[in-house]
Amino acid sequence: MPTDPEVWDVAVVGAGPAGAIAGLILARAGRRVLLVDRRRFPRDKACGDALIPDALALLARYGLLARVEAKAARWTVGTVYGPYRMSVDIDTDLLTIRRAVLDAELVAAATEAGATLVQGMVTEIDDAGESGTTLRLAGGGELRARLACIATGANVSLLERCGMLERPAPSAVAIRTYVHSDHPLDRLVVSFDRHILPGYGWIFPMGGGTFNVGCGVVTGTATPDTDLRAMLGVFLDAFPLGRALVRAEARREAVRGALLRYGLTGARPHGGGAVFAVGEAVGSTYPLTGEGIGKAMETAAIGASLADAALRAGTTTPLAAYSERLARELRPKYAGYEAAQRWIAVPGLADALFWRARHRPRLRAAFSGMLNETVEPSRVISPRGLLRALLA
Ligand SMILES: Cc1cc2nc3c(=O)[nH]c(=O)nc-3n(C[C@H](O)[C@H](O)[C@H](O)COP(=O)(O)OP(=O)(O)OC[C@H]3O[C@@H](n4cnc5c(N)ncnc54)[C@H](O)[C@@H]3O)c2cc1C
Repeated sequence: MPTDPEVWDVAVVGAGPAGAIAGLILARAGRRVLLVDRRRFPRDKACGDALIPDALALLARYGLLARVEAKAARWTVGTVYGPYRMSVDIDTDLLTIRRAVLDAELVAAATEAGATLVQGMVTEIDDAGESGTTLRLAGGGELRARLACIATGANVSLLERCGMLERPAPSAVAIRTYVHSDHPLDRLVVSFDRHILPGYGWIFPMGGGTFNVGCGVVTGTATPDTDLRAMLGVFLDAFPLGRALVRAEARREAVRGALLRYGLTGARPHGGGAVFAVGEAVGSTYPLTGEGIGKAMETAAIGASLADAALRAGTTTPLAAYSERLARELRPKYAGYEAAQRWIAVPGLADALFWRARHRPRLRAAFSGMLNETVEPSRVISPRGLLRALLA
């Protein structure tokens, strides 16, 4: 690896949750970290703004939970509705916080730890392996780093240029708006209402009478006629809670959308040399619900620890273990969500399951355990698990 003092230890491209956490961990390890983002912070990001237990656990692990929680709203129940509106309440621990606020907080934590943040659009990364990397910026200029970390979310152009992209198409697309309404709601709601299937919708209270409301659809099931704005309208009209929210609505903010990449698929996490990717760039978002902030940060934590090991060893060799580490430590957590994604549209199945869960505390506890990551998802959402749940 180059020893030139002008060469950064790690250049992290993208300062969303994945990039910020990778930068924070490496800076805390004493590495010279450059965080490059094309946007100026604080910046908005289309999102449901919900932090589920995996995200809270990671923030706690790095001592960031209290500062995030201070700017967030806390909720202890999530309610999931099936296509025919049978619902199940899941006891859990959730925060909602606008992404402009969350991401700025995480970037601030990374810079406080010693990372340097610059605004710039990286257009190319040359990976010279043990000789390091060269990053080119839009508008001219380049910089060098021993290692480069791609944390560009669902924007895959750098992955493609580095030969790491395996599937250009995103997994899903989703939109959200903020509705300001007097309607009371004390929980996060996700709905697979039959009027919008194969799409899904959500209503997440942000506190103070603001609700993050949105819908999404898996790209494989979308047709050229799929119109997400129309779907959001149908959702708010057909779903009783949506109607109630709109009836008491004072105003609505602009609709914004973004792509999602699911299931730890779509890209090679390690380019083979000095470049690795973290977060949604490696498809870290969960299928079915589209929750991805927690897992984006978890991939970043694993990638950053291996990058630190590589810098310590003076060779990129430790990064070779990255893909396998992701597969071993995180892959099983996606299995239940993938299966549920396939089965949610099976007529009556989800509603029957949710009805059952209302009367079976153990099944409800299993759903909570799946969300809270204390129960292996495949134990709940598998042919055997479903049979057990429906017949026991
Ligand atoms: C509508 C919607 C709702 C969602 N709801 C939730 C939810 O409620 N909870 C949840 O956990 N997840 C949710 N997700 C998923 C979540 O948004 C992602 O999983 C998460 O943002 C991934 O984080 P990341 O850091 O990998 O990428 P991002 O947050 O997308 O950050 C990538 C960063 O890279 C920068 N960048 C991109 N290209 C370049 C470049 N070439 N040069 C420099 N900078 C670049 C971007 O400006 C951006 O700041 C939702 C997604 C959508 C679309």
